[in-house]
Amino acid sequence: MRYLVTGGAGFIGSHLVRALLEKGHEVRVLDNFSTGKEENLAELSGRIDVIRGDVRSFADIERALEGVTFVFHQAAVGSVPRSIADPFDTQTANVNGTLNLLWKAKEFGVQRVVIAGSSSVYGDTPGMPRVETLLPSPLSPYALSKLSQELFGKIFSKTFGLETVTLRYFNIFGPRQDPRSEYAAVIPRFVRAILKKDAVTINGTGEQSRDFTFIDNVVQANLLAMETTRGIGEAVNIGCGSSFSILELVDHLSEILGVRPEVRHLPPRAGDPMASQADISKARDLLGYSPKVYFREGLERTARWFEEKFRRTGDL
Ligand code: NAD
Repeated sequence: MRYLVTGGAGFIGSHLVRALLEKGHEVRVLDNFSTGKEENLAELSGRIDVIRGDVRSFADIERALEGVTFVFHQAAVGSVPRSIADPFDTQTANVNGTLNLLWKAKEFGVQRVVIAGSSSVYGDTPGMPRVETLLPSPLSPYALSKLSQELFGKIFSKTFGLETVTLRYFNIFGPRQDPRSEYAAVIPRFVRAILKKDAVTINGTGEQSRDFTFIDNVVQANLLAMETTRGIGEAVNIGCGSSFSILELVDHLSEILGVRPEVRHLPPRAGDPMASQADISKARDLLGYSPKVYFREGLERTARWFEEKFRRTGDL
C-alpha cells in the first residue's frame, strides 16, 4: 500500500513521512519546494519517492497518484500575511490545488484523503474554546482557503464517494519548523533570539493566547484519521485543549534556556485573533485522539533541537 504526502518536504509533512516509514509503509512526496526544504528529507533519500511538482498541475498530481491508496494533503501556501499580500496565489494553491487533488484522487481510486485544515477558520466567531459546531468566520484569504478545502473534502465524501477527513490544526510546533514561517514559528525565532541574547519581538501585547500543539500529536491524529471508521467527511479540531499566552511562552523558554530576554513590542498583526483554544472532544470521540506530548515537554524538546541545530550550523 502506498502513501502520498503532499507538502511532504515541509514541517508537518516531513514528520508524517518519517512516521509512515517507521510503520513500514511505502511513501511518496509531492512538493514544489516553495517553503519545503530538501534538508527536511535529506537522510531519507533512497527510502522515499520524491516528486518535485505542484498541486496546481493535473499532470504532476497524476504522476504522484500512480499506485497510491492513501493521501495526506499538507501542501498549501500556509501564511496569513502572504494571503493578504497576494490572495490569488493562496486561492490557486490551496483551493484549486485541493480540488485538483480530490478530483484526481477519485479518478485514481484513492481510498482516503486526510486534509490539513486550520483553526483559522474560526476567525472572529464568538465562543471559546473552539468547538466544531461554531459558525466559521474566516478573517483572511488564507483562512477562507482552508475552509474551502474542508468543504470540498466534505462534498467529495458526501457526493462523490471519496473518503476524506479534515484535521483543523491549532498552532503546531516542533523540530524542523521554519523560523521564517509564522504560526507557532515564534518558537524557533524566540529560541534563536534568546540564545543570541537578543531581544524577542512580539506583535501586540503578548497577551494573545494559542493552543500550542507539539508535532507528535498531529502525526498521531493524522494516522488515526486515516484509519477511523467514524468522522468521514467531517472537520475535527486537533490541539491540546489548553492555551498559553505569548508572554507565558517567553517565560517558559527563558526558564528552559536559562536566559531572560528583553521583550519588545510591535503593532498587532492584521487578522490575528486574541485567543485560540481547541475543544478536542470530537477528536477524542471520533478518532480516539488524545495528546501525548503537552506544551512544556514539547517546548523543551523543540528548544533543545533548535539549540543544537543553531550551534551546529553557526546560526547564532
Ligand atoms: P510548510 O510550509 O512547512 O509545508 C507546506 C508544504 O507544502 C511545503 O513543503 C511547500 O513547499 C509545499 N507546497 C506549497 N504549495 C505547494 C503547491 N502548490 N504544490 C505542491 N507543494 C506545495 O507548512 P506546515 O506548517 O508544515 O503546514 C502544513 C499544512 O498544515 C498546510 O496545509 C498548513 O496550511 C496547515 N496548517 C499548519 C499549521 C501550523 O501550525 N504549522 C496550522 C494550521 C494549518
